[in-house]
Amino acid sequence: MEIQKNFSLKKYNTFNFDVKAKYFVQVSALTEIKKVVKNIEYKNFPKLVIGRGSNILFKNDYNGLVFNFTNDYIDVIDEDSNYVYIKVGAGVIWDKFVEFTVANNYWGVENLSLIPGTVGASPIQNIGAYGKEVKDSIVSVYGINIVTGKEKSFSLEECNFGYRNSIFKNLLKNIFFIFEVTFKLSKNQIPSITYGSIKAELEKLSQKEYSLSDIRKAIITIRKAKLPDPEKIGNAGSFFKNPEIGESRFLSLKKRFPQMPYYTSIDGKYKIPAGWLIEQCGWKGKRIGDAGTYSEQALILCNFGNAKPNQLIELSNTIKNSVQEKFGISIMEEVNIF
Ligand code: FAD
Ligand code: NAP
Repeated sequence: MEIQKNFSLKKYNTFNFDVKAKYFVQVSALTEIKKVVKNIEYKNFPKLVIGRGSNILFKNDYNGLVFNFTNDYIDVIDEDSNYVYIKVGAGVIWDKFVEFTVANNYWGVENLSLIPGTVGASPIQNIGAYGKEVKDSIVSVYGINIVTGKEKSFSLEECNFGYRNSIFKNLLKNIFFIFEVTFKLSKNQIPSITYGSIKAELEKLSQKEYSLSDIRKAIITIRKAKLPDPEKIGNAGSFFKNPEIGESRFLSLKKRFPQMPYYTSIDGKYKIPAGWLIEQCGWKGKRIGDAGTYSEQALILCNFGNAKPNQLIELSNTIKNSVQEKFGISIMEEVNIF
């Protein structure tokens, strides 16, 4: 375990910003984390974990200690005729885990194929896509509170999962470091293919029953056509969350904008796609220098080459103001800004 100084995070954030961490350390065991946290030299510095940096925007260099977890085991710990329980290290690349589940015919996370990042980060914002959320497959989340030094296993209920949210993104942000996640996956077929164009994509395969691998393939095809590859264009996925509004606000907006798409949630709220709001304000595919929005999805802010973090921040503030002015809706960042 080597603690490096003035470490470039360029390879650890998908915006590709060349920001530096004052200290950077890779760890593969809880004992190593404890050792670093106890070290008086780093006591007064802020600390955070970085996975692949696919949901992070650093405004400046980070004057603190950045941990990166390299524990990359996928262990089946229990099973019965219906379910399998799998313990996965935080350092595992999320899509490698999905690939493993599909190869073994375990159902539950296939709709979350190709989401960038690590397993350790997956509970943070309860990653979701194409009608599924990771919370639907999580049993428990294990790690360490770096303030108290105590290890804890959070049950599903204790994780307080919500829409792109969890206790780890709020109350315990940068306090609880996730080291391991336990998943419960089904051995029985439970396809979830009603979202958007999944069914249409599957029908191209012209079969009646679709395998897990068909579904994964369909999701990957859809994602590749619509979303920018961070290897080619710097981005951190959806920059903003989809706003949820109450009924009276929704009805008055729908009168003014009859084309406005929406989805109702179980708590009676109306979810409006933030990408649509931004597009209506004329921002789709627009650039200011090398900072801009993606041509196929206005919700994704991109570094098209040599943008600086402050240019991205300026662009995001301008977009937020346009949406506020036109719709009276304040959209909030989904990306974690440090
Ligand atoms: P990072 O970006 O490194 O970290 C994100 C946050 O989690 C930070 O606050 C960090 O401190 C914290 N964190 C990371 N690891 C840990 C840990 N082990 N313990 C405690 N805190 C930790 N997200 C979706 O939900 N659905 C999508 O469909 C989706 N599609 C995307 C598509 C693209 C092209 C991109 C670039 C991003 C997309 N995202 C999506 C966002 C992103 O992939 C997820 O949020 C992912 O979980 C981030 O993983 P990461 O390892 O890169 O986390
Ligand atoms: P899309 O399919 O064009 O849909 C636009 C928005 O409408 C999405 O944000 C989605 O909400 C909502 N939506 C569409 N159909 C829905 C349905 N049947 N029920 C409820 N909500 C519905 O979105 P996209 O940009 O191509 O992304 C596809 C999926 O990948 C989405 O689920 C999206 O969340 C996910 N994704 C997430 C990120 C990220 O960084 N968070 C980045 C890229 C893609 P939801 O977002 O709630 O699904």
